[in-house]
Amino acid sequence: MSSIKTSFGQQHLDLPAIHDWHLKEVLRDLGILEEIQAGQATCNTCKKKVTLENLSAIKLGPKQTILLICDSIECLGTAWAGEARR
Ligand SMILES: [Zn+2]
Repeated sequence: MSSIKTSFGQQHLDLPAIHDWHLKEVLRDLGILEEIQAGQATCNTCKKKVTLENLSAIKLGPKQTILLICDSIECLGTAWAGEARR
């Protein structure tokens, strides 16, 4: 007898507030801090410019791509929905 356990939607996308100092460290580790500070980063969903102020989620995509999500509720919803479908 086998039991299949799925942990759905808990792998990625840490939404709980990340303190700014921590966020910057994470972004630097990911190599995207400069991009954001230079105003070159965009939301993966709405393509709006993402800054440290409106960045609300970091999502790890396939092939180690890093997807940034802005603080729009719709973008977050889309990000979650896209994740759940896979
Ligand atoms: Zn967005």
